[in-house]
Amino acid sequence: MATLLQMSPEAFIRFLKQNKIRRFHFVFNFAENKVIPSHKVLQPIADFLMADQRDFDKHEGIFFQITNKHDALQAGFVHKTNRGNAAGGTRFWPYRSMEDFLRDGLRLSKGMTRKNALAGLWWGGGKGVVAQSENLDIHNQEQRRDIFKEYGELMSAIRGVYITAEDVGTNPQDIAHIFSETRFSTCIPPALGGSGNPSEPTATGVIRGMEAALRFMDGGTIEGRTIAIQGMGHVGEPLIRMLLEKGAKKIIACDIKQENIDFVLKSCGSDRLESSLVEIGDNSILFTECDVLAPCATGAILNPDTIPRLNTKIVCGAANNQLEDGLRDDDALFARGILYVPDFLVNRMGIVNCANEQYGYIPNDPYKLRHLETEWEHSIFHVTFKILQISREQGEPPAHTAIRLADVQAEHVHPIFGHRGLDIIKSLVEDKWFEE
Ligand code: NAD
Repeated sequence: MATLLQMSPEAFIRFLKQNKIRRFHFVFNFAENKVIPSHKVLQPIADFLMADQRDFDKHEGIFFQITNKHDALQAGFVHKTNRGNAAGGTRFWPYRSMEDFLRDGLRLSKGMTRKNALAGLWWGGGKGVVAQSENLDIHNQEQRRDIFKEYGELMSAIRGVYITAEDVGTNPQDIAHIFSETRFSTCIPPALGGSGNPSEPTATGVIRGMEAALRFMDGGTIEGRTIAIQGMGHVGEPLIRMLLEKGAKKIIACDIKQENIDFVLKSCGSDRLESSLVEIGDNSILFTECDVLAPCATGAILNPDTIPRLNTKIVCGAANNQLEDGLRDDDALFARGILYVPDFLVNRMGIVNCANEQYGYIPNDPYKLRHLETEWEHSIFHVTFKILQISREQGEPPAHTAIRLADVQAEHVHPIFGHRGLDIIKSLVEDKWFEE
């Protein structure tokens, strides 16, 4: 029999049902320094977490359920709540095995701790994962409604220790369904009091990162530069528009969808924009001779195959997890003398835009705009410049530096609520939330 970790989400759901388990958790007991599962039969997963050297990092808690309708496997990953309850989006994605499912949630929630801490947000790090298993029809709107309403119920059941948002595979309608069952969701539609689409602020954040890197490199600006962009989607479009406005000499961009290219050409076509349609898997844009390369499509595109062939001075883009293997590929870029601006530093505006929704909406909100300023100590420009400086002075690749700084800031506890997430988790365990 396959181990629990080798099982597909579908097989794992069958296993849970045979054992009459609908909700369950894994919680880190700091006093005993071990992961405690809610059910004995799940001990092999707790053992896997304890043995893992790569993605598990004393995550405070992971909370699961299978939905009553449609049997969807859903989880909220809580990495660290020193700075506040765990915040981050929910990914709706297919997974081959439970190990893949767990690793994605562990890695992404830890990434959110770092992103939020470096942004100076008073939120901890968390991530949601919902498996797109074979029994689900992702195009069926009624099914999506049921699945995400039940995800909202999970958020309420875990008492707000994790606060969800939109991510890859989820859309504003899904979030509205979640919100109908819980207050612990952000990124809700503007009609319900939410913050709306973050793509334009995200693009502005990427530009601030580019400007800091260019100033650091040679004291210059965007003006007169050649910029290559992979992906002309929600972030790529405003990015191209704003770079042209800032006097870029040439933009070379590509996408795998003609309609997205057409949309960009319509909104900001220019003789300084060169665009092309590429096949999925065609990464030739990465090897374009340019001043700045901006990955704005998918992750893991910087790896031992591509890094030696890059023809850029700076990499700075919105795509999440650009480095296939964080520290290894950061080392390789550094060795080549390419300035890498960590993605989790410059693409923060997605979470900045929605994280504080419950504090009310102000057009041109100063608490958001300061992230795009030059002087504020946590602004994208300021932190990018500082990280590149430390990196050069200490001979340390910049993602290493960014992680080091983020991990220090992630230890700071919320000035009002302290480390309340741990108290919520303790109450969940004591009250056996999974039996409700
Ligand atoms: P999107 O889906 O709107 O755009 C991505 C674009 O890339 C699409 O047009 C797609 O067709 C294209 N694409 C996919 N694979 C490609 C390939 N191999 N070559 C060329 N083009 C390809 O997504 P988005 O909202 O623009 O986000 C872009 C990236 O930035 C994603 O990795 C996302 O996770 C990240 N990000 C976005 C935000 C945000 O506010 N939207 C915030 C943080 C991070």
